[in-house]
Amino acid sequence: DAADSNLRSGRVLRVHGLESVVRTDSGEEYRCAVRQVLKSISTDQRHIVVAGDMVVFRPEGTSQGIIQSVLPRHGVLSRTSKGRRHVLVSNVDLVIIVASAGEPDIKPHLIDRFLVTAEQAGLEPLIVINKIDLVDPTDFQPLLGVYAQMGYQTLLTSAEQGWGIDCLKSVIRNRQSVVTGQSGVGKSSLLNAIQEGLGLRVQPVSLENSKGKHTTTTSEILPLEAGGYLIDTPGIRQFQLWDVISSEVAGLFRDIRPYVSGCRFPDCTHIHEVDCAVREAVADGRIDPRRYNSYVHLIEDPAASF
Ligand code: GDP
Ligand code: ZN
Repeated sequence: DAADSNLRSGRVLRVHGLESVVRTDSGEEYRCAVRQVLKSISTDQRHIVVAGDMVVFRPEGTSQGIIQSVLPRHGVLSRTSKGRRHVLVSNVDLVIIVASAGEPDIKPHLIDRFLVTAEQAGLEPLIVINKIDLVDPTDFQPLLGVYAQMGYQTLLTSAEQGWGIDCLKSVIRNRQSVVTGQSGVGKSSLLNAIQEGLGLRVQPVSLENSKGKHTTTTSEILPLEAGGYLIDTPGIRQFQLWDVISSEVAGLFRDIRPYVSGCRFPDCTHIHEVDCAVREAVADGRIDPRRYNSYVHLIEDPAASF
């Protein structure tokens, strides 16, 4: 088909209404509309194409085009509101969970909540402890050891001193990463250390306006000079546990998961039941008690603010 030789592929950087900005591998950007037939197969027009999507499009001139198809998605971050699932961004390869060693103090419970979110979405997490210049790094070895034992990648950094930045750069190269973590831990500083100006573009956006109404927030994908993309998704930076059903939470804790099948009751909450294999594993040290406390806290107060 001669016409098909005109088709190109690219990644959707952002979506404004029905128009998407698509970037090709060689870095050209096209403003694309969505082909009519694609619209008819979706019940929700706004989410036919989302940031992060890989699409095939037909260029019209040098800066515009028509999206013909959306390639299958992986690594989707979504949220459900009013019973509807909203895809925030697709094709996420890595979730960078940033915590700080001090100012503010490290909150392992919060790291665990971010991990649950990543596990639920089936995404690979990277745990970054920033501001390591403020503390003795060896203080964090026991905590990081627990995470490493579960197979999670961890990294100590100081955005201020430039420590660990090359390592962070090499982990995110040629991948599509999302950065998350409490405000003040140094996310913007780390991003600026990776690439000048990056942290300035990734600004927190309020999910609520002054009248308490939710404003539209859209994801944006920022190309990295070294290759790869950084995802700026306002909704994922302010942490919320989306769509997690309490009976599924134990299965999302990598260290608790292996024990749940050994409980006497199939609907065991692992909090107060007798013959609970999880609690037995906590009692004899096979599960880290701090991690178990995180689990209990998450079940009892899923909407806790930190
Ligand atoms: P964000 O809210 O997570 O984006 O955090 P920011 O990047 O805005 O940083 C919050 C504060 O922490 C700023 O005053 C930074 O200068 C400071 N900060 C960031 N990284 C480091 C670090 O590695 N060490 C120290 N000591 N301070 C840092
Ligand atoms: Zn149990």
